[in-house]
Amino acid sequence: NLQSKLDKAFKTLKGQGRITEINVAATVKEVRRALTDADVNYKVAKDVTDRVKEKALDRKVLIAVEPGQLFVKIVQEELTDLMGGEAQPINLKGDPAVVLIAGLQGSGKTTFSGKLASYIKKQGRNVLLVACDIYRPAAIDQLKVLGEQVGVEVYSEPDNKNAVQIAQNAISHAKKTNKKIVIVDTAGRLAVDEAMMQEIEQVKKAINPSETLFVVDSMTGQDAVNTAKTFNDRLDFDGVVLTKLDGDARGGAALSIRAVVSKPIKFMSTGEKMEALDVFYPDRMASRILGMGDVISLVERAQQAFDDDEARRINAKMRKNQFDFNDFLSQLQQIKKMGNIKDLLGMIPGMGKMVKDLDLDNASFAPIEAIISSMTPKERERPDMIDKSRKRRIALGSGTSEQQVTNLLKQFDEMRKMMKKMNQMQASGKLAKMMK
Ligand code: GDP
Ligand code: MG
Repeated sequence: NLQSKLDKAFKTLKGQGRITEINVAATVKEVRRALTDADVNYKVAKDVTDRVKEKALDRKVLIAVEPGQLFVKIVQEELTDLMGGEAQPINLKGDPAVVLIAGLQGSGKTTFSGKLASYIKKQGRNVLLVACDIYRPAAIDQLKVLGEQVGVEVYSEPDNKNAVQIAQNAISHAKKTNKKIVIVDTAGRLAVDEAMMQEIEQVKKAINPSETLFVVDSMTGQDAVNTAKTFNDRLDFDGVVLTKLDGDARGGAALSIRAVVSKPIKFMSTGEKMEALDVFYPDRMASRILGMGDVISLVERAQQAFDDDEARRINAKMRKNQFDFNDFLSQLQQIKKMGNIKDLLGMIPGMGKMVKDLDLDNASFAPIEAIISSMTPKERERPDMIDKSRKRRIALGSGTSEQQVTNLLKQFDEMRKMMKKMNQMQASGKLAKMMK
């Protein structure tokens, strides 16, 4: 983890009592490597670290009480600024307001269209979805299924092979049926090709959208940047949707795309379920890129999807560094209700590693619950009081091994330390603002 590496680097520096620009340079290099590991384009990473270096020297990082933390905070701020600072709203002007969805095949356009429709509908607005993928009949069905699921009408013309016409007819239909927002899902190809670009350009010209969103799979790493550039040159889109952030991708593509096309990322998608759509917050993504997890998004999602009071209670405990195994168990159970444990667990600081270690699927999740269930309520609150003989009993009671119990306790402890660090950052700086 980046932070502990930095802490260590600085400890050595201080011990030597020789603090020079060269030492900072070495640390900066470490940061740059961490960024490129997270899929950030090399040039972008270099720009970031050059500015970080300047700020670090400026803000006297080397004589700070916790130089590593201050350093990471500076990096976090720099990344946040680079991604635009504030969350950018979607522009829904016009009657009806038209949103055009573009991107390669498989990037997640159709899924996102459904999610966006659901999101807008929940705000009490009348939405129409339009199936403009004329190449795959299955694409129309896919959108229809999603539309049904979220309760939004889907406009399609299965026999019409003219995407421009379909889009225009859909808008007339929207006016007739009093729809205020029209979301046009389009076809994509496996790679950018001229015919596809022309088609989407023509659709755009014909329907004059107030918002054109480019959807891109974050797992494609550096390719995502090139594709974004090509689409932007032709379509001059208004914003980016980053999908599949529930996977291994660490979100570095977000940084590079923003830097290369100068367009804001507006939404991120973290799963196949219709609920898994989040507004893109640059500061949260910066934390995620730095490997600190995205607790706030996780808590928000929990609040949306299920018990508000419970989520608020847990959120408060996290902030007071009182998060315990009871809360953990309660979260596991709530998360399980949503069906996609893996997506969500990855958002908890320190959990990414745990998920990996366990090679997680639903079945391998059972031991964790069994272990926690075999603890007494007191032990769940204060796991540090679990001694060797209790470990043995818990292992017996849960049908696991002592090693498994020890591992869980260790990982839970790491997770709590990570939360504490995040809380300290939030208390001390910019992050505090967004918690309000
Ligand atoms: P399109 O070809 O651009 O319309 O892409 P689709 O919406 O059909 O999505 C392609 C595949 O990616 C489907 O299997 C989706 O379920 C999946 N998918 C879309 N968004 C996400 C996401 O955020 N996370 C994950 N894990 N899968 C996604
Ligand atoms: Mg599609």
